Amino acid sequence: MWRGPRTLIWLLPPPFDAPPLRAYLMEKPLRIRRNPMALLPILTLPDPRLREISKAVEKVDGEIHRLLDDMLETMYDAPGVGLAAIQVGHAKRIVVIDIAKDDQPKAPLFLINPEITWVSEELGVYREGCLSVPEYFEEVQRPARVRFRHLDRDGVLREAEADGLLATVVQHELDHLEGGLFIDHLSRLKRERVVKKFTKAARLEARSSERETEDVDA
Ligand SMILES: [Zn+2]
Repeated sequence: MWRGPRTLIWLLPPPFDAPPLRAYLMEKPLRIRRNPMALLPILTLPDPRLREISKAVEKVDGEIHRLLDDMLETMYDAPGVGLAAIQVGHAKRIVVIDIAKDDQPKAPLFLINPEITWVSEELGVYREGCLSVPEYFEEVQRPARVRFRHLDRDGVLREAEADGLLATVVQHELDHLEGGLFIDHLSRLKRERVVKKFTKAARLEARSSERETEDVDA
């Protein structure tokens, strides 16, 4: 006897690979609640937020984990080797770094409330760039080795020493937490030139998006 479509639906077997709902909820509650990682927009020069001083993280909780994951994905996508939270508009003392080369396995570093505790007298030079100053590179001289302290992703206090590229990236990213940019290490002439160039480009872009808005409204 025909009992209507509802009964028919109940008679169908569940989709082949669907686990029983109850078991799935108990085993993987996080995967159900969590949204997928998101790419965050990166602030660029001359955005004034890049000059803000970031605040210490008080508690490493789910919200901080979410930000760390989103920052990491944003950095890999850019691509870059380091990203500070202020570069994506969060004035928190958080940095993600991964200096692994393309053919090496990923090796992300999560630095929460990082502090440099020692720098070498010996200096090193790298040609630096920054996701917030896109497509501009200049040589910067910094201490060749640093020791630094930070909370890791689990909120555990760690101390590490770095040299080479990692030493430079750590110093570059920690500058961001104080509202610093690598161009602050350049001569005044070079710095003013690049700030002017980016300010002009931002003005032109604002004007052209205003025009687009007018077109849409018309
Ligand atoms: Zn940077």
